[in-house]
Amino acid sequence: MLVGVLALQGDWREHKLLLESLGADVLPIRRESELSQVQALVIPGGESTTMSNLAKSFGLFPALREFVNHKPTLGTCAGLIMLSDKVEGAVAGQEFVGGLDITSSRNAYGGQTYSFEADVEIAGQIERVAFIRAPRILAVGKAEVIATLDGEPVAVRQGNLLGASFHPEITGGTKLHSLFLESIS
Ligand code: GLN
Repeated sequence: MLVGVLALQGDWREHKLLLESLGADVLPIRRESELSQVQALVIPGGESTTMSNLAKSFGLFPALREFVNHKPTLGTCAGLIMLSDKVEGAVAGQEFVGGLDITSSRNAYGGQTYSFEADVEIAGQIERVAFIRAPRILAVGKAEVIATLDGEPVAVRQGNLLGASFHPEITGGTKLHSLFLESIS
């Protein structure tokens, strides 16, 4: 299977390495023609304002919105923000892909100096993950919560979409990516 990682900005290389370690073939995605070649997509962490600007200049939004309608897509941190139907703290004119019926709040766990690692239970497996200028999931509509931190949702699943506030790829967590790859087949 060929999996895409949106490579406009952010830590897409870490996602690529992790997916490859789990047996997937990975294509970095910057163009619509590349997106049309993959069966599933990861939108990495980074900076959602920059990612949004670049997706706009590369003319990628229509293809991304069509893709997430029916193909497996995982968004982490900035990627979760990109997949949120509602975002608090967006900058003026910031566009999103949407698809997940949640409200996320940018930087709500605090700025860079408040970044931290924590053990979270993801679908029954405890893993160490990193929260870096992480968004909070303030409200969950149709999505199912699959991980919590101190009782708050930090990862959700809705149909073909998975999203998490944290970065598992930085601390070597594999559960989220395994769930994602299982959902492709
Ligand atoms: N705070 C960033 C944003 O709003 C996300 C941070 C991250 O992806 N680590 O895009």
